[in-house]
Amino acid sequence: MPDARARDLTGEAAVVGIIGWPVAHSLSPLMHNRAFAHLDMNWVYVPFAVRPENLEAAVAGLRALSVRGFNVTIPHKTAIIPFLDQLTPAAAAIGAVNTVINRDGWLVGDNTDGLGFLQSLWEGAEFDPAGSRVVILGAGGAARAVAVTLADAGATRIVVANRTVARAQELASVVRSRGAQAEAVPVGSPLLEDELAAADLLVQTTPAGMEKAGMAGESSGGEAPAAPPVPESWLRPPLIVCDIVYTPPETPLLAAARRRGLRVVPGWGMLLYQGAAAFERWTGRPPPVAVMRDALLEALDAGR
Ligand code: NAP
Repeated sequence: MPDARARDLTGEAAVVGIIGWPVAHSLSPLMHNRAFAHLDMNWVYVPFAVRPENLEAAVAGLRALSVRGFNVTIPHKTAIIPFLDQLTPAAAAIGAVNTVINRDGWLVGDNTDGLGFLQSLWEGAEFDPAGSRVVILGAGGAARAVAVTLADAGATRIVVANRTVARAQELASVVRSRGAQAEAVPVGSPLLEDELAAADLLVQTTPAGMEKAGMAGESSGGEAPAAPPVPESWLRPPLIVCDIVYTPPETPLLAAARRRGLRVVPGWGMLLYQGAAAFERWTGRPPPVAVMRDALLEALDAGR
């Protein structure tokens, strides 16, 4: 396996990267650099730590440096929009950008999170959203990408449960505007149990599973495992359960779902496929998905 650190970059090397604050936890540099090395491409992927107050200057700098593109992560996904030249329909519908493509100085903001999510559902559980009923936990940026993508892929009913109910209501109205039925329910409400009993898919999008179970790079310190965000008894076949949190790869929710005999879809699949889609947009080449998956899983196994 070629090692990204040992590669010789020439003056013609193409540069891509990621901006975020913080960014040190990101697994994307590993995943993309392993792909470039595998294909023997003269490309490099660099992490850029960009404070929120420096976002506009950073985007201008990346444009001036003629980088081929970059990923965008927390907290810049929405804030970056005014500094770009164009949005793809996916980014406009989701209201956030995770991938920027530089077309000769013209910066196009795209969002590959939803596509990555759909691909992970298909790979993990052969799940096709057409005609499905879905419950989403959380109403933040990732939930919005998931909800809009599911509605556009033909889900017929999407129920949003969130700690802050007003945010769930707002996301439900976005879903309705995409043509699906939608409801907002409070977390822990008996209504949620009824909705889960009738649902085909549960998607967990809050960082809740990361807390006690340990974030990447942090020790779990021998603490008791965190409880799943919904009572285990509410998880019944034939529900498919997806948790988009990927550190740890087996979240308390996924562990509970497995105990109940349900099919589960871990969050690293979404990370993998949003990255694969970005790779293709920047390079015009088919992404070496198996190589990218190995890089990701090795890092997650090592608790990086
Ligand atoms: P965000 O916009 O900040 O939204 C966070 C959501 O989680 C909000 O709905 C918030 O509820 C809720 N929340 C936060 N802390 C909570 C807690 N302790 N208990 C219950 N609810 C809580 O964040 P985001 O961008 O959507 O990201 C959310 C998670 O998804 C992160 O863990 C991120 O790593 C993961 N993610 C994974 C992928 C992937 O590729 N697998 C991609 C994107 C994001 P309120 O509205 O009440 O504050």
